[in-house]
Amino acid sequence: MRSTAGVYERPSRRGNCERDRLATRYDEVVTPEFDVVVIGCGPAGNTVAYRLASAGVRVLMLDKEALPRHKVCGGGLSEKALREAPFSLSPVLDYRVGAALVAYDGAHPVRCERSGIGAMAQRAVLDGFMAQKAVAAGAVLHERESLESFEPRNGLLEVRTSRGAFTARVLVGADGVYSRVRKQLLPRATPRLVPAIEARLWPAPDMLDLVGDSCIFDLGVIPAGYGWVFPKRDHLNIGLYRFFKRTDNLDMRGLLEAFVARYRVLRGYERIAVKALLVPVAPVARRLASHGVVLVGDAAGLADPMFGEGIYSAIRSGNLAADAIVSTLQGKGALSSYDRRMRGLRFDLAAARLAAALFYSSPRLGFRFGVRTRLVSKLFMGMISGTVSPARGLIGTVGLTPYWLLARPSPAVASPIFD
Ligand SMILES: Cc1cc2nc3c(=O)[nH]c(=O)nc-3n(C[C@H](O)[C@H](O)[C@H](O)COP(=O)(O)OP(=O)(O)OC[C@H]3O[C@@H](n4cnc5c(N)ncnc54)[C@H](O)[C@@H]3O)c2cc1C
Repeated sequence: MRSTAGVYERPSRRGNCERDRLATRYDEVVTPEFDVVVIGCGPAGNTVAYRLASAGVRVLMLDKEALPRHKVCGGGLSEKALREAPFSLSPVLDYRVGAALVAYDGAHPVRCERSGIGAMAQRAVLDGFMAQKAVAAGAVLHERESLESFEPRNGLLEVRTSRGAFTARVLVGADGVYSRVRKQLLPRATPRLVPAIEARLWPAPDMLDLVGDSCIFDLGVIPAGYGWVFPKRDHLNIGLYRFFKRTDNLDMRGLLEAFVARYRVLRGYERIAVKALLVPVAPVARRLASHGVVLVGDAAGLADPMFGEGIYSAIRSGNLAADAIVSTLQGKGALSSYDRRMRGLRFDLAAARLAAALFYSSPRLGFRFGVRTRLVSKLFMGMISGTVSPARGLIGTVGLTPYWLLARPSPAVASPIFD
């Protein structure tokens, strides 16, 4: 699909010093032209690039890092994320999750078994695989090249990077939570960010076998949040998510250390690598597509507030952006159709925000009356796997109030994972 608009034009010599500097560089660089430039090779950018390249669109994808690179993330993939991916992710899955154990401060574990909870992957491997798929479909990949700025020029966008400049008809901001694209497009937007901390932990011998293909959620190891233990092929990914703004400067690292001390499968580990990052849990603006620019994934603030899950929304918004871009390039619609297509996802995220506000106001009660009550825990697991929408989960939980107030709590299971 060749764009019909003009090719690159050299910037005016009468511009400021920055322009002159770029103009000199442009003299030396043969500037290619692309229909679409995608910034960022996470699940969002890789999905857009793959879908567009598969449709014959000329795509350039840039990442400031060399791939594969680690991304601070649990690497938990819900069933709905697996379904939404534009190709099978099976080749890079470490595990299909067999069961979820939900506990409160290392005690009273409840076993929630169901087929199709989700799967575990390592982000370096997953993102590298997805980028390779996009390249195989025809996208051009530039690694170790970061976006610096962009500006409109003759109906196109001029995209300036650390290594040169490119013209494109559409720019996709898939550059994560600190998105430079978002900062330039929406300078006044203030993303709603909540804290999370992750550690890759290589446990003491035999502990990996003890965890097996189970993942653990613990609602009592951090106020207004949860801790997780996710099994990977040769290590455990553990972490804490908190549905609360960072204003109280809670000591996340200290809480993570206490979490490790609380679990026998974590204590006495051989090696640990800890990293913290923020999770954007509300769309950054009403319009996420304007002036030839589209925001997807974390750059658009689309992580799920209930669990901090962002890979599903990244892939989903990537798919919706690709649909909108293809129809724009074919002259069948405007880029703003992306915002219309996003309504369903935005509704789900708004319902999840409400559910999170209620649930995390007292995780202890949520655990006692929700997780330990069979019908409600079914809804909870459905929300994790994606078979139950946040709105249905919320309405179902409220509707079941008499039941969960009176029901006998499920007994704790005996498991060698717990003391
Ligand atoms: C501790 C933690 C645990 C999490 N666990 C989970 C989980 O288990 N499951 C889940 O679904 N979600 C999880 N999330 C959320 C998930 O990681 C994100 O929502 C998801 O990665 C968003 O994908 P993305 O493609 O939008 O952005 P990212 O994956 O962040 O990718 C952005 C890419 O853009 C590149 N980039 C950034 N700036 C530039 C630039 N200027 N120029 C060029 N490239 C640039 C980066 O190098 C990166 O490769 C977790 C988040 C955190 C913080």
